[in-house]
Parts: sequence; C-alpha cells; structure tokens
Amino acid sequence: MFKAFLIKYGEIAIKGKNRYLFENALLAQIRHALKDVEGSFLVTKEQGRMYVEAQGDYDFEEAVEALKRVFGIVGICPVVILEDEGFERLAEEVVKYLGSCYGECDKTFKVHARRARKTYPLQSMEINAQLGGRILERFPGMKVDVHHPKLMLYVEIRERIYLYSDVIPGPGGMPVGTNGKSMLLLSGGIDSPVAGYMVAKRGVKIDAVYFHAPPYTSERAKQKVVDLAAKVARYAGPVYLYVVNFTEIQLYIYEKCPHEELTIIMRRYMMRIAERIAEKTGSLGLITGESIGQVASQTVQSLAATNEVCTMPVFRPLIAFDKEDIVTISKRIDTFETSIQPFEDCCTIFVAKHPVTKPNAAVIRKSELKLSEKIDAMVDEAVETAELIVVG
Ligand code: ATP
Ligand code: MG
Repeated sequence: MFKAFLIKYGEIAIKGKNRYLFENALLAQIRHALKDVEGSFLVTKEQGRMYVEAQGDYDFEEAVEALKRVFGIVGICPVVILEDEGFERLAEEVVKYLGSCYGECDKTFKVHARRARKTYPLQSMEINAQLGGRILERFPGMKVDVHHPKLMLYVEIRERIYLYSDVIPGPGGMPVGTNGKSMLLLSGGIDSPVAGYMVAKRGVKIDAVYFHAPPYTSERAKQKVVDLAAKVARYAGPVYLYVVNFTEIQLYIYEKCPHEELTIIMRRYMMRIAERIAEKTGSLGLITGESIGQVASQTVQSLAATNEVCTMPVFRPLIAFDKEDIVTISKRIDTFETSIQPFEDCCTIFVAKHPVTKPNAAVIRKSELKLSEKIDAMVDEAVETAELIVVG
C-alpha cells in the first residue's frame, strides 16, 4: 500500500546556510543505500522535505532496512501520496487508509493536519475536526485523545496530499560526506569496525588501512578485513581499503629492538604509515579502535607513546567503552560474527611474553634509534606499494 517514504532529518536542519550541502549529501547517501534494494526509486527534495518514491514494485522491508542505515535520517515515514481531488475524496481516502493500516481498531487518535499550500479551502483546524468526525463515524471504537493519542494521523496539504501515521526510527547522526574524511586503522578485531561506524555516523567519510604480514598472516585473514570493510561500507558508503605489506618492517623491528617493546614500536610504525597514506589521499584524521586499559598496548602510557608519532588528530571513539558495550554495538551493526572468525592478525604473531605495559616514550624513542635509515626506506616502500581495494 505504501509507494513512498517521507524522510525526516534532524540535526542537519540546524546548519543554517550550509543546509543544502547537508541535504545533498543525504540525498546521495539515500540513493547509494537503495541501489541494492529490489525496485527503483526516485529520491527528491522539496521545501525542506525529502521523499523516496518507488517506481513500480519494490521490496518494502528491504527499503526500510536500507534507509535505517543512512546517517542523518531520524525518521522514516511510510506515506500515501494523493492528488488533490477535493475534500470529499480526501475524507474517503483517509478512512480507507486507516482501514487498511489498522483494520477495525479501537485506538485513541488525533488528526494532525498541516496546510503548507495556503490556497487550500479549509484551514488546518477545520481539516482536523472534519476528518476526525469522519473517522469516528466509520470506526465507532476509536476515540479522540489530543494529548496522548495512540495513533497520530498526519495530513500534509502541499501540491499533493501526504498521509502518514507511522514513524520508523532512523539511525540519527549526520550524512556521510559532510565532515571530511578520515583514515580508519582496520584490523580483523571487534573494535576497529565499530570505531569506523561511530565516526562515520558523525558524517565523516571513511578510508581504511590494514597491515598485512604474509606469510605470518594468511590470505583468509586479509579477506576477513575486506569483509569487515564491506560491513562498514553498508553504513559509510564505499570504503577505499589500503592493504599495507608490513612483514619486512615487523621482522626488522623484531631483529633490532627489545622484544618487550615490539608491540608498541610496531604500533608506532602503523600510525606513521597510516598518517602518510592519509596525507596522500586527503584524510584529515586517523581512527583506531583503542580503549583505555583493554590490553597492554592500550594503557594510558602506551597510548601516549603511540600517539606522539603522528601530528594528525587521532579519533578513538571507543576510548572509554567497556568491551561489553563495544560487543553490543558490533552485534547491532552486524560486524561481530565476522570479527570473531579465528584468523590471526599480525600483532598476535610477534607478541612478547611480557610486553611493557608502562612504556616510557623516551625509552621507546631510544630503542627506535637502533633501526637504521633502512627503516625509512621500508616505510616509503610500504606506503608506495599499498594495495587499494575498493569495497562496497
Ligand atoms: P581490534 O579489535 O580493533 O583489533 P584490539 O583490541 O585487538 O582491537 P589492538 O590489536 O591493540 O587492539 O589494536 C588497537 C587498534 O590498532 C585497533 O583497534 C586498530 O584500529 C589498530 N590495528 C591493530 N592491528 C591492526 C592491523 N593489522 N591493521 C590495521 N589496524 C590495526
Ligand atoms: Mg586486534
């Protein structure tokens, strides 16, 4: 029965004269999200409203699911659109609408009319009263409740007339593409995909980098990261994933530096390389899935030692989250099952038995001096040879 959706968007409406940029980004993201849904759709914007209209048959559930993944949407209203053929016809359609949506129901209700087209012969209050009367005649079990109605029937009189009564919650946030771009350090774990999702929700476009260490990490481990990038892309739009070959660098650090400092030095090189690729590709920040105290490399001292090697801001949206809360989000966004597939990631191969948990940045800096200028050439090469995979 519903051939269209009215899209409600919140936060972006307050953006003053930038508003149209936000709306255009939202239009683009809606079109992107609907591209794999069965059916074809017309997505339009008029007078501060956005509509998705199906052109012919389509899959309602799939369309709603897709729209629920578009950041910036706060409400998805299945809507019936009518040509204006006079008030009599409208009243008939309203009664028909309630009959098909709710059957012989006995809910309390309220009609909420809005006359955006001021030439319409009846005023909003009159429309409310007259339609309310018709509804009561046809459905004797229903009752008007203007304060806390169970059912709110919206009637918007514009060029055409829009009827809706259901608002399906959207994800909120801001449309991707309205807040620049950042580079996500994406491992095969639970945390980093969630971190990417959260930052994308603030309107940031996401690129990703994965540090691969063949043969210590398998093709399967890499595929898992590609799969995770695809899951993030369902929300964030296409993700450019850079796969960096990290083997040589890891082995070299392993050869030269104290083993209990391996993880921290490796992480510093990951950040350096990620920042280099970010600079080259237009990202303004880095994103990690780090959370204080989760593992030895995420104590405050470790985070400080890792952080000092880059000048870009590092966004760590999970910094104060408990693992349990991160898991809850990863289940909700459907990355959890992929994340827990048992494929090694590169850090686990080279972990020391007793890694430092309170590294002193000055000491780490000194250890890194044991790496000759060879390391700079390796970093250059890692940046230059990164493999680009476009996902989603
Ligand atoms: P995750 O669940 O995201 O893997 P984690 O709890 O396993 O995190 P670490 O392995 O210490 O924690 O990694 C911390 C962060 O560093 C990750 O959230 C991710 O952003 C980044 N990271 C770790 N390993 C890699 C990798 N191989 N490639 C890209 N980024 C990585
Ligand atoms: Mg990990």
